[in-house]
Amino acid sequence: MSLSQAASSIPASPTLALNEEARLLREKGEPVIHLGIGEPKNKTPIMAILSSVAKLAGGDVKYVPTDGTPSLKKAIVHYSEENYDRVVAPQNIIVSDGAKQSLFNILFTLCNPQDEVIIIAPYWVSYPEMIRMIGAIPVIVTPEDGSFLPSFDEIERVVGSYTKAIIVNSPNNPSGMVYPEDLISKIVDLCESKGIYMICDDIYHKLVFDGIVAVPACKYTQKDVENSKIILVNGVAKLYGMTGFRVGWAIAPRKLVTIMTNVQSQTTTCVSPVMQAAAEGALTGMQSIVESLRLSIQNNRDVLMQELHSFTDVHCVKPQGTFYALPDFTAYCRNSIAKNSVELCQFLLKKALVVTVPGKEFGMEGHLRVSYAGTVKELIEGIERIKWALDPNAPSEIYIGDRKLVRDWL
Ligand code: PMP
Repeated sequence: MSLSQAASSIPASPTLALNEEARLLREKGEPVIHLGIGEPKNKTPIMAILSSVAKLAGGDVKYVPTDGTPSLKKAIVHYSEENYDRVVAPQNIIVSDGAKQSLFNILFTLCNPQDEVIIIAPYWVSYPEMIRMIGAIPVIVTPEDGSFLPSFDEIERVVGSYTKAIIVNSPNNPSGMVYPEDLISKIVDLCESKGIYMICDDIYHKLVFDGIVAVPACKYTQKDVENSKIILVNGVAKLYGMTGFRVGWAIAPRKLVTIMTNVQSQTTTCVSPVMQAAAEGALTGMQSIVESLRLSIQNNRDVLMQELHSFTDVHCVKPQGTFYALPDFTAYCRNSIAKNSVELCQFLLKKALVVTVPGKEFGMEGHLRVSYAGTVKELIEGIERIKWALDPNAPSEIYIGDRKLVRDWL
C-alpha cells in the first residue's frame, strides 16, 4: 500500500531526533553532554504551577474555546500592550499548541500551492519543512557575505508575484543575531507596500544581551493590527522555560484569526485549559523570572565565547540574544574525520559524547549550533571534549565520565 508522498517526504525534526538519541544514550548510562537542546534548565515559574494546579484541582477540565480561554487572551492583550505598545483585541489572538502550531496555522491560512515564503538563512529548521508541507515554496535568502545578516537588497531581490510572506526571526535561532532596526523597518515598508505578510517569530524577544533590544516590527507601522501585514508569533516556551506546556499564540487581523481558528477546530479543537492556565500564570506572575533567566543565559554566552576563543580554527560571531551560537567549524569539516557538519556532529557524539546540531539543518553548512541554555559546568566540559576530539593543540587525554580516553585520530 502506498503512503502519502507529501507526508513521507517530511524528515524528522533534526533537533528532536538528536534529543531522542541523547536520551537513549543517557538511559544506557553514557555521560552525554547535550549542547543541542533548545530549552532553558530553569524550573517552571511558581505562578504557572499554581495556576495550572488550581485548574486541575477544580476538577473541571473540559473543552474550551478553540482560539483560547478568555482569561489567557486577556493576559496576552496585556502582554502586547506592555511589551509591544500595541492595542490588540481578543479577536486578534489565537492560542495554539506552541508557537510551532501557530506558525503552521498561519502558513496554512496564507498560502496556496506554489506561493512563495521568504526565509532568511540561517533559519529555524522547521520553517522550510512547514512551508513545503502546505504545498508552498520556501525561498531562502542566504547572505552573500557569509554573515548571518542579509542586506535589505538581498531580501528585496527575491520578492516576486508569488511572494506571500516573509518570516523574520530576531533574535535568531540558530545564530543569536538580533536584526538591526534599520533592516526591520525596511522589511516592514516592503511588506506593506507590496501586500506581503511579515511573520515575526518573536519567541526569543526578551532573551537579548548587552543592552541590545530586539525592536518589534510593529514599531514601524502606522497601521493597527486589523490593517497591518505584520503577524506576531510568541509563546511561553523560551522566555519562561515552559517548553513542555506547549502554549504559543498568534496575533493577526481578525479575518486570518477566524480562518486559523477553523483550521484548529478541525485539527486539535483547543489547547488544554490546564496548560492555558499555566501560561496565564506565567504571563501575569512575577516577570523578574524572565530577567534572571536572561542574565544567567548571558553569563553562559560569555563562558561559551571564552571557551571557543581558545580553540584553534573556530570562529564564532558573538550572539546578541537567544541561547544559541553558531560557530564556524569549516576548518574541521574538510578532513578524514568529517566532510560536512552532519558527519562532524555524528563524530562528536560518538567520540566525545557531546550533542550539537549540524549547521546544514539551518542552511549554514560548516557550522555547528551550540546551545548554552544548560549549566555552565556542562558547557565548559562539552567544549573541552569537542576541543579534545578536534583540535590537535588540545591535550590528547581526557576523562569522559570515569573513563580515561586517549585521542588517536589526529
Ligand atoms: N520558533 C523558533 C525560532 C523556535 O526556536 C522554536 C522552538 N525551538 C519555536 C518557534 C517553537 O516554539 P514552541 O515550543 O512554542 O512550539
